[in-house]
Amino acid sequence: MDDSKKLLSVELPAEVLLQFEVCCGMVGRTEKDVLTTCISDFIEKNHYHEFDPFDATPEELELYQQVVSLKYNYFDDMSFQTDSIVGKYVNLADGSVYPDLEKLQNIDWESYTFCVGEFANPEFLASFTPNTKTLKVSEKCLAEDYVLLHELIHIHEHILDTLPAYYRDILTLSLYNDLSPKLKKRGNDLDAMLASFCHVVNEVMIESAGGTHSPLFFLKSLDIDLRRGYPLGRVLSYGWDEKLA
Ligand SMILES: [Zn+2]
Repeated sequence: MDDSKKLLSVELPAEVLLQFEVCCGMVGRTEKDVLTTCISDFIEKNHYHEFDPFDATPEELELYQQVVSLKYNYFDDMSFQTDSIVGKYVNLADGSVYPDLEKLQNIDWESYTFCVGEFANPEFLASFTPNTKTLKVSEKCLAEDYVLLHELIHIHEHILDTLPAYYRDILTLSLYNDLSPKLKKRGNDLDAMLASFCHVVNEVMIESAGGTHSPLFFLKSLDIDLRRGYPLGRVLSYGWDEKLA
């Protein structure tokens, strides 16, 4: 088993190893064959597959291209770029970045699944499923940037959750400090908005309708609303564009 595991330079999921232990006593099969089968079964069961631009439908390719373009234009802060609002916290003397941050700066889109299709619930516009890294968007929303930007915040938060918590706190603090005066100039009170958004009744209500949307999510959605000239609450949705109108 150890020799077979050495064939791969990745840590195998526990489910694969368990299946391997169960199957490796099968007569007439080498450990390498058994392990290969266990990994294939796991990949198929979990719908993992690499995104291949040459094998995508035109709609999936369009989705992929839009997502990559929007990430490039609106996520300098969540990517911890040194010339963004978080720059002063991550800017190293030699101009390099911590290896931790590379997976936010260069997302490995090839490992994501891009899917265009309708949802069983017609009210759903898009979803991001973290365990399979699948972004699904309904066809009618392909051209709706605010929908894709919403899902991109989820994708960045998912990656951020794999990093030490201080990165998340640095980002939240930076967004608050940047947004507060900008909103004040427009006559909006960020503290009052946060007090309303962060109340547990609101958080639970949104979560039951469409998953967790953290205070960091709220701040980043407001940042994009301002950058795009949207009404406040557009990127967040869940009725918040009406609430903040
Ligand atoms: Zn969402």
